[in-house]
Amino acid sequence: MAKIVCVLYDDPVTGYPKTYARDDLPVLERYPDGQTLPTPHGIDFRPGTLLGSVSGELGLRKYLESNGHELVVTSSKDGTGSVLDRELEDAEIVISQPFWPAYMTAERIRRAKKLKMIVTAGIGSDHTDLQAAMDHGVTVAEVTYCNSNSVAEHVAMMTLSLVRNYLPSHQWVLKGGWNIADCVARSYDLEGMHVGTVAAGRIGLRVLRLLNPFDVKLHYLDRYRLPETVERELNLTHHTSLDSLTRVCDVVTLNCPLHPETEHMINAKSLANFKRGAYLINTARGKLCDRDAVAAALESGQLAGYAGDVWFPQPTPADHPWRHMPHHGMTPHISGTSLSAQARYAAGTREILECYFEGRPIREEYLIVQGGRLAGVGAHSYSAGNATSGSEEAARFKG
Ligand code: NAD
Repeated sequence: MAKIVCVLYDDPVTGYPKTYARDDLPVLERYPDGQTLPTPHGIDFRPGTLLGSVSGELGLRKYLESNGHELVVTSSKDGTGSVLDRELEDAEIVISQPFWPAYMTAERIRRAKKLKMIVTAGIGSDHTDLQAAMDHGVTVAEVTYCNSNSVAEHVAMMTLSLVRNYLPSHQWVLKGGWNIADCVARSYDLEGMHVGTVAAGRIGLRVLRLLNPFDVKLHYLDRYRLPETVERELNLTHHTSLDSLTRVCDVVTLNCPLHPETEHMINAKSLANFKRGAYLINTARGKLCDRDAVAAALESGQLAGYAGDVWFPQPTPADHPWRHMPHHGMTPHISGTSLSAQARYAAGTREILECYFEGRPIREEYLIVQGGRLAGVGAHSYSAGNATSGSEEAARFKG
């Protein structure tokens, strides 16, 4: 029987919820490209409840224990003496979410002698050293598409929020003011602006579709060209380099995975090629950006605003410059863990576990690494290597 270690974020400071704001979730059957939602044999949770925190247990305990497996759930994941480190020795499967990632470094993978699979309950498996997983024959799987649309909604919200100067204006209300000039001195319309996405995969394409009705001019950069019909439908301009896209865009949004090719793609040199006063929205991964270069670009006015929910490492120590830089609209990493998204990725994680234990193939679209190489979405969207270096800094976070 297997031991499964599941690393989840802490419960709310007010305790695990007893009631919720809404009674149900809309029922979705397919994602926009026709892919079906997760199809486990069953679920042991109520969709719309908090599943991603420690007490929610991704709704997995009943299923795993009734099949004779051991489930350890913890939020303790960083620094010496963490529960994750203690339990790793004989773990067969490690599950975590990108919001509160279990950094599965080469050193941890080496120590976990029985480890067979690492599951990302969500999308984005850069918190695992994919090279080390390949070298040790460990499978890496994630729940592709489970929260892509959730993130795209967040990108649309943050784009409007920055361009229209929403957050500082809201602050004037809380302060009891009526400071219209202070609010609007940095407020613009999105209409007519050039908006570009770095990557037009599931999230990037959805962002283009959500923003199209604002009568903006749309641009994209991706390793792969979108179908001509889509380019025509959205009147897209395709770019083959980051500089070519950033030179013309008023809003740039990052929607590619973090891997050795994309790490720190936004740095002092690439920021110098942005239009002065551009807005940068990054809900993909913090490490796509050089954090000091972003803060400096906001200070100098090269960027007019920066918003996103992803940082490096996570959780992020109190002295991280993005907590304090001007004109930012950062949140903790939340865009892909709405209650709606949690129901999908909890079911998807259950589906992956059922396949694993029943000896059935895991869906190709859920695979990142298998059989010692990049597979499935991993082969399509990642490049081989490791992007976890520096993750030990997460131990400096004091909750
Ligand atoms: P996807 O696999 O559908 O799309 C990724 C796209 O990135 C692909 O089209 C790929 O060709 C492109 N790409 C890869 N490397 C590139 C490069 N060097 N230059 C240009 N394009 C490149 O994945 P998705 O569902 O759209 O998710 C994308 C990423 O968003 C995830 O890997 C993850 O890091 C992040 N994400 C964040 C959250 C969140 O909660 N903030 C949730 C889900 C995903």
